Amino acid sequence: MKQGESLEELSRDIVGLVRRAYSSADARTSSKITIDAFINAIDDSTVRCKLRDSFPSSIEEALRKAKSYTINLEVEAQTQKHKPVVNVVCNTDPRIEHLEQQVAALSERIKQVIQNHPPVRCYHCQGYGHIKKNCPRYRDVGQQGNENELSTRDPTTLPRPFDQGSERHQ
Ligand SMILES: [Zn+2]
Repeated sequence: MKQGESLEELSRDIVGLVRRAYSSADARTSSKITIDAFINAIDDSTVRCKLRDSFPSSIEEALRKAKSYTINLEVEAQTQKHKPVVNVVCNTDPRIEHLEQQVAALSERIKQVIQNHPPVRCYHCQGYGHIKKNCPRYRDVGQQGNENELSTRDPTTLPRPFDQGSERHQ
């Protein structure tokens, strides 16, 4: 526990320094100064803020909390660091297993649905999954074979004989 030891050293140093610098101060004041100095001397800003928020009543309490916050932050950092690695490496991730089960169940369900309700069959190409009206082969043949019929059905592709006629008259 290197961090804990260094925090202990820090608190000991600060207690000694405050005792020497504020030798005339009463116990309560010097305790407050010691706690403030200890908090301000901590490197980690998160630990510093949490410690300040917790209003420790003694340097011992401040040291105990500082150790606890530091250890918690280290554990948290380790957890964050290892999370993605676990996701990539671990093949027996329970979430993947759950997904595999769901996929298997869905495949089974789809099979049952197909058995109970066979897909529509095309009268044109005898293929499954579409009717003659939507048949890609039927549409291909229709477009090649009935160019005029298609163009008269679609107003945007209609030729404009009247425009040409009026131009000729002018
Ligand atoms: Zn078809």
